[in-house]
Amino acid sequence: MNNIELLNIAETFGTPTYVYDSAIITQQYRKLRNSFKPLNVKLHYAMKALSNVNVLRVLKNEGAGLDAVSIQEIHLALRAGFTPETIMYTPNCVSFDEIKEAVEVGVTINLDNLNMLEKFGAHYGDSVSCCIRINPHIMAGGNSNISVGHIDSKFGISIHQMRHVVRIADHYNMKIVGLHMHTGSDILDADVFLRGANLLYDVANEFPDLQFMDFGSGFKVAYRDQDMSTDVEHIGQKIVESFQEFCTNYGRELELWFEPGKYIVSESGCLLVKTNVVKQTTSTVFAGVDSGQNHLLRPMMYNAYHRIDNISNDAGEKKLYSIVGNICESDTFGHDRLLNEVREGDILSISNAGAYGFSMSNQYNARFRPAEVLVHNGVPHLIRKRETLDDLIRNEVEIPSLIEEEELSNIH
Ligand SMILES: *Cc1c(COP(=O)(O)O)cnc(C)c1O
Repeated sequence: MNNIELLNIAETFGTPTYVYDSAIITQQYRKLRNSFKPLNVKLHYAMKALSNVNVLRVLKNEGAGLDAVSIQEIHLALRAGFTPETIMYTPNCVSFDEIKEAVEVGVTINLDNLNMLEKFGAHYGDSVSCCIRINPHIMAGGNSNISVGHIDSKFGISIHQMRHVVRIADHYNMKIVGLHMHTGSDILDADVFLRGANLLYDVANEFPDLQFMDFGSGFKVAYRDQDMSTDVEHIGQKIVESFQEFCTNYGRELELWFEPGKYIVSESGCLLVKTNVVKQTTSTVFAGVDSGQNHLLRPMMYNAYHRIDNISNDAGEKKLYSIVGNICESDTFGHDRLLNEVREGDILSISNAGAYGFSMSNQYNARFRPAEVLVHNGVPHLIRKRETLDDLIRNEVEIPSLIEEEELSNIH
């Protein structure tokens, strides 16, 4: 999307607004799928990254499945038209009741602790198959908050506990159809994937009923100009080789699954904000915008870099700014950025905001969550309305006696 199109969207739909381009979503999806071409590969989009029903439909039309992490996500997926067979459910620390609900829906269940595995076996025996999330204890990822495969992580069943897994599976006659790992986000290195893959290949021989292996996600996208993104074609080549060899040894051709989130939607999206205030302090020039950490948390939570451009003043002289939000927190989108001169009312575009942007937004400071717009076939569509005061108070319940007491206190 060029600046003029984005400015038109800001004008039509107001700000702050998330804008996504479906052409980039499909381009990323196809690039990843094609990287594993000769294999029977299935991509389950990790819908927690961005779960608007229209985005889900775009991916469904590409043939994607979904990775859901809560029963609510499963219901959103069904609503978007996904069939249960195309949904993988990878929860963490949920109740057995929630897992039973998911079994009733008919999605693939991925279990990530031994207690749950034993409960599942005792309850279902061989009548419902499942997948096991294995923690291979590989340090991976760009940030300790998004690296989930290491030794202290709460995710998965430790690879050192496989003996116990096999005991449970044998005892209850369980059908383990998949092995899964997800070691973190922002992995650049093909070797990290391969190390994890090799560990899973070793373990696989203990499980005769496998239908698929799931290597999770962690594909990195470039946030800065000089950033590297994961070379998925290179990883694809390496994985294809090693997976084919594994299948030959295993004796059967298995499906290979991935569950990318960020890689599919991050670059498709930006957050359009308007400059409310340009404020010169003794040390800095702040550009204060009509959004904040309540709308895009990644810079504050993960120290993530998001490129910012002043799209209403292309020709303006470059100056140094700190771009901050309007929330009563130090919510800085970017320190010391060179932007074309920013004036009150200018529209700024914050890039790479498709993944974990809207989905992590909230109403802190009693502010409305942003609108969302999807550009599809070149046409911008409103896909989520901006919230209103009604949305803020919808679930609030008033205590009648407090109102009476208030009336009394007014009389005195
Ligand atoms: C969040 C998550 C993903 C997606 O990770 P990205 O870095 O966004 O690709 C994949 N699998 C599981 C189990 C997840 O929790």
